[in-house]
Amino acid sequence: MGPKTNPDTAPYRYQINAEECRSCDRCRKVCMAGAISEERGKAYVIDEQKCTKCGTCVKWCKYKAIQRLDMYSGE
Ligand code: SF4
Ligand code: SF4
Repeated sequence: MGPKTNPDTAPYRYQINAEECRSCDRCRKVCMAGAISEERGKAYVIDEQKCTKCGTCVKWCKYKAIQRLDMYSGE
C-alpha cells in the first residue's frame, strides 16, 4: 500500500477494459505496486487489493484500455 494514497477511501478504482487491452505488457512494467498481471489467454487485470491508485498505468497504455471508475456514480 502506498503512503500517499489510501486505496480503501479513494472514491475510484482503476480497471482494464478487456475488449481494448492488447496485452502489450506496458502497464505491468510500470506498475510499481505490482498490481497488474496477465490472465492466461485473456486481457490484463488489476488487483484492487494491491493497486495504490497512482494512475501511472493509465498514462502508459497507448490503447486507452485502462479506465478510472468512480465508485459512487454507478460506474
Ligand atoms: S498497457 Fe493497455 S493494452 Fe497494454 S497490457 Fe496494459 S491495459 Fe493492455
Ligand atoms: S493505478 Fe498505479 S498501482 Fe494501480 S494498477 Fe495502475 S500503475 Fe498499478
